[in-house]
Amino acid sequence: MLAFVLASLVEYWVHRLMHASLRLGQRHRDHHRKNEGQGVLWEFLDYIKGTFIIMVPMFFYSLEAGIGWTLGGVTYAAFSSYAHQLQHDNPTKCFWMTMPVHYVHHKHNMWYHNFGLGVDWWDHIFRTYKPVEWLTEQELNQPERGYLELKWR
Ligand SMILES: [Zn+2]
Ligand SMILES: [Zn+2]
Repeated sequence: MLAFVLASLVEYWVHRLMHASLRLGQRHRDHHRKNEGQGVLWEFLDYIKGTFIIMVPMFFYSLEAGIGWTLGGVTYAAFSSYAHQLQHDNPTKCFWMTMPVHYVHHKHNMWYHNFGLGVDWWDHIFRTYKPVEWLTEQELNQPERGYLELKWR
């Protein structure tokens, strides 16, 4: 559980730093230009690569701690890569947020707000949450799609 929450915090700050640093942000600027996800699977592998380094040290503490920590991190990576793609492909299905933060982050090309991907907690805590009217004609008129109808790879 702790790893799950911590992973969401790391994600928030990595994304926020990508908007603050030219060097870190090149690939992310391309992502904003294209405004599409790379697919759940590739996103997941990227997140695993990013979290690997904070997963491994726990195994030196104990095997149980290592497994628990890794499970929390991997679960968050799976959840968040799904959440990311869902907000690109099918934002109205993102039922666990009143406003899908990543969807509006892209739609309004936000550079200082709504850095969350899977969750909006940290935007509230660090005061980068910016509410906007997001459910407009454009979203309401999209064809109805299921929770699993998105780009997987
Ligand atoms: Zn961004
Ligand atoms: Zn995105």
